[in-house]
Amino acid sequence: MEERRHRVARGAPAPAGALGSAPPRDRGQHRARGPGVRPMKALVFKGTRSMELASVPAPEPGPGEVRLRTLMAGVCGSEMHSFLGHSTYRRPGTIFGHELVGVVDACGAGVSPDVAGRRFVVDPITTCGSCSACLSGRSNVCASRRLLGAEVPGCFADFVVAPARNLLEVSPEVPDQVAVMAEPLANAVHVVRLLPKLLGRRVAIIGCGPIGLACLSVALLGGPAGLTVIDPVAERRRLALPLAEDLGRGLAFTAREPDADPTPEFDLVIDAVGAAATRQAAIGMAVPGGTVIALGLHAQASELPMNEAIRKELRILASFAYVRDDFVAAIGLMNQLHKTFLPWITIEPLAEGERAMRELADMPERFVKVALQP
Ligand SMILES: [Zn+2]
Ligand SMILES: [Zn+2]
Repeated sequence: MEERRHRVARGAPAPAGALGSAPPRDRGQHRARGPGVRPMKALVFKGTRSMELASVPAPEPGPGEVRLRTLMAGVCGSEMHSFLGHSTYRRPGTIFGHELVGVVDACGAGVSPDVAGRRFVVDPITTCGSCSACLSGRSNVCASRRLLGAEVPGCFADFVVAPARNLLEVSPEVPDQVAVMAEPLANAVHVVRLLPKLLGRRVAIIGCGPIGLACLSVALLGGPAGLTVIDPVAERRRLALPLAEDLGRGLAFTAREPDADPTPEFDLVIDAVGAAATRQAAIGMAVPGGTVIALGLHAQASELPMNEAIRKELRILASFAYVRDDFVAAIGLMNQLHKTFLPWITIEPLAEGERAMRELADMPERFVKVALQP
């Protein structure tokens, strides 16, 4: 075990030329305990609105994998759906967390020791690489897709294991709590890539949560003629303004509350919420010949005004997660836009993850994005 791993002293990047070697005392301690029994703290999902900080064995990297010491872990909207009992995708006993920035702490067999001690964000999805979806560039819908923090233990923990090929470097200027936004931003890049060209179009985004705001930042770069964001929470709408000012010079920008009876005035409508009301509103807001794209996962099933969609000959698209290209593009955007994202994010201690997730659910006016710090 010891021969095929390269350990780095916790918290201290190894000096150049010394990567892969660890102080003898550290090595001795590790041998005494034996591999796989080093304890760590992890936030374990117990059931609806319940998380427990537990002491569990730190995971060991297998061939082609690395272990990262978690610097910051973002709380995703999809995890909130599981936490609140709206989704059964994540089972009790799971360690959540797929929005990750960390420092490589140990390398499995076949991994270059050059990555040890360096900070990375992680593409949290692994796919088979050989099915027709993967081979046609649509690995996001691979049937064997596995997500960190759902099918494999996630990063709401001191340490997490991930494939080395999923590591992506982010500029050193990007603070840890912003680096976790790479994953939500990759979702937004995927949405905009599925849409027709935004140039000169009137675009609406429903929802000013992290995904809606990420969609806004990517959509603004596409040169729309006008952009409207819709959210019932004034504090969240307010967060959209600096983004629009920074990126959308000369653009007609509006932030408003949802309309009970929406007028068809948008060429492209992005629904980042996915409740019955927002899915229906998206169809109502689109002009004849317009496009609606759904990515919010709030409701399992919703009744839709399909006759209206047919009479307007709308294109209704769905967007799910991202492929590696989207993630790489998201990191490029992150390196440019990180200062704009900073005000969205609240850092909370991992040990208080349950309280933080309850507050995120109950106080949308106070929290947009929570990053947990071990
Ligand atoms: Zn996420
Ligand atoms: Zn596949």
